[in-house]
Amino acid sequence: MKFGLRTKLTLLYAALFAVVLGLLGAFFYHAMAARLDTGVTDELDQRAAGLRGYINFVDGKPTLVYDRDDPEETHFIRLATRYYQIYDAADGHLVERSREMDLLDVDLSPDEVAERIAEPGIDEFDTESDRLRFHNSVLRAPDRHVYLLRVGASLGPLQATLRELKKTLELMIPAAVFVAALGGWFMARLALRPVGELRRAAHRISISNLDRRLPQSGTGDELDLLAATFNNVFERLQKSVEQMREFSVSISHELRTPLTALQGEAEITLMRASTVEDYRRVLTSQLEELGKLSRLVNQLLTLARAESGQLKLEAREMDLSEMVRSLAEQMEPIASYSGIRLAVTGAEPGTWIAADPQWLERVVLNLLDNAIKFTREGGSVEVAVTRANGEARLQVRDTGAGIPQLALPHIFERFYRADGSRSKEVAGVGLGLSLVRSIVQAHRGRVEVQSELNVGSTFTVVLPLARAGAEAVAEPSGHLAG
Ligand code: ADP
Repeated sequence: MKFGLRTKLTLLYAALFAVVLGLLGAFFYHAMAARLDTGVTDELDQRAAGLRGYINFVDGKPTLVYDRDDPEETHFIRLATRYYQIYDAADGHLVERSREMDLLDVDLSPDEVAERIAEPGIDEFDTESDRLRFHNSVLRAPDRHVYLLRVGASLGPLQATLRELKKTLELMIPAAVFVAALGGWFMARLALRPVGELRRAAHRISISNLDRRLPQSGTGDELDLLAATFNNVFERLQKSVEQMREFSVSISHELRTPLTALQGEAEITLMRASTVEDYRRVLTSQLEELGKLSRLVNQLLTLARAESGQLKLEAREMDLSEMVRSLAEQMEPIASYSGIRLAVTGAEPGTWIAADPQWLERVVLNLLDNAIKFTREGGSVEVAVTRANGEARLQVRDTGAGIPQLALPHIFERFYRADGSRSKEVAGVGLGLSLVRSIVQAHRGRVEVQSELNVGSTFTVVLPLARAGAEAVAEPSGHLAG
C-alpha cells in the first residue's frame, strides 16, 4: 500500500506522539501508585504508633484507655482500631480484635503470630472484597509479657484511585493522539500545499511553452529554492531547445539549396541533354555538389558527436610543431594560388602534446583554410607554435578581412557566418570554427580570437603540454600523418 507524504507525516507524528504520551502516562501512573502506596504505609505507621500510646495493661491485659468525651481522640481510636488485633505471643491466641475483624474472620495461627513476633513488619492479605495491609509491632507489658499488635488499613481506596487514574489515562491518551494527528494532518497540508502548486505548475510546462516558470514565493525556504532550481533547469532547457530549433532550421536550409539545385539540374538534363558528353558534364558537376553535401553531413555528424561528448580521441604524444610545419607545407600551394604568402614564423621543435593527430589536423587545417579564405590577394598568413607556462600555443595570424566586433562572440556558433553578403562569395557553411572549438575543448584546451576589421585576425589555440616545460627527449612511438 502506498501512502502519500502527508499521510506518512501524519502517521509518523501521531505514532511519535502516542509513544511519548504512552511513556509519560505509564511513568505518571507508576509514580502515582508508588506515592499512594507509601502514603498508606506511613499512615499505618502513625496509627500504630498513636494506638500504642492508648494501650494500657489492666490486670496484665492490654486495654484501650482514652477520653471518650474527646471527639478527636474518639475519632482517631475509631479509625485506628477498625482493623486491629492483639495476640498473646506466648501461645499465639487472640486477645483482642475489632468488630470489623470479627466479620472478616482472618485470624493468625500461633505459628504466624510467632513469625511476626520474630520479624514484625508489613503484611497484606485479600478478603472477598478488599485488600488489607497490616502493620505488626511488639507490645511489652510491664510484667514482661509480650503481645503482637496488628493495625490494618484497607487498600481499597488506593486501588480505586489508581483504577480511576488508569481509566482517565486510557481515555485521554488516545484522545490527545487523535487531536495531535488531526493537527499534524492540517499542518502537513499547510506545509505541502506549495508542493502541490509546484507540481501543477510543472505539469503545465511542456516543450511548447518552456518560457513558463514555476511560481516562486520569494521566502527563500527549501521549496522556494527548489522552485528556483527547477526554473534554472527550465531556462537551460529552453536555451538548448531554441538552439536545436535554430540548428535544424539552418541544416534544412543548408541542405535544401543544393538539393533543389541538383534536382533542377537533373530535370533539365533529362529534358534537354542528348549526347553522352552532356550527361557526363552534368554528372561530373553533380558529383562535385554531392561531395560537398556529403562533407557537410559528415561535418554535422562530427559536430553532433563532439558536442554530446562522444568524440573518440585516440590521444598519443605528438609534436605540435612538426604537425603544423607539415600542414603549412601542404596548404602553401593553395595559398600561393590565391596570391597569399603562407609562412611558419616559428615552431619550436619538441612541443609535445597529448592529442589525437587526426582531430588536431582538422583544427589546424580549418584555421589555415579560414585565414586563406578571408585574406585578399597580396596578404599573408603566419603560423607560429610556442611554449609557455606548461602550455603549447598555436597562432594563425592573417592580414585579411578581419571580423566585426559585434560578430566576434558568435563566430564559434554553428552556422554563424559574419557579414552575410561578403561571406556568400566565400565557400563554407559556418561549421568550421564550431568544430575547432569542440575538438580543442575535447583536448582540454581553448581557442581565442583577436581581430580588427580590415586589418586581420589572429586565432590562438592553447593546449596543455604533455611534458610541461620539458624539452623533447624522446621520439613519440608513432609517426605523424602529413
Ligand atoms: P565558414 O568558414 O564555413 O564560414 P567558420 O565557422 O569557419 O565557418 O567561420 C565562421 C565565420 O567566422 C566565418 O563565416 C567568418 O565570417 C568568420 N571568420 C572565421 N575565420 C576568419 C578569418 N580568419 N578572418 C575573417 N573572418 C573569419
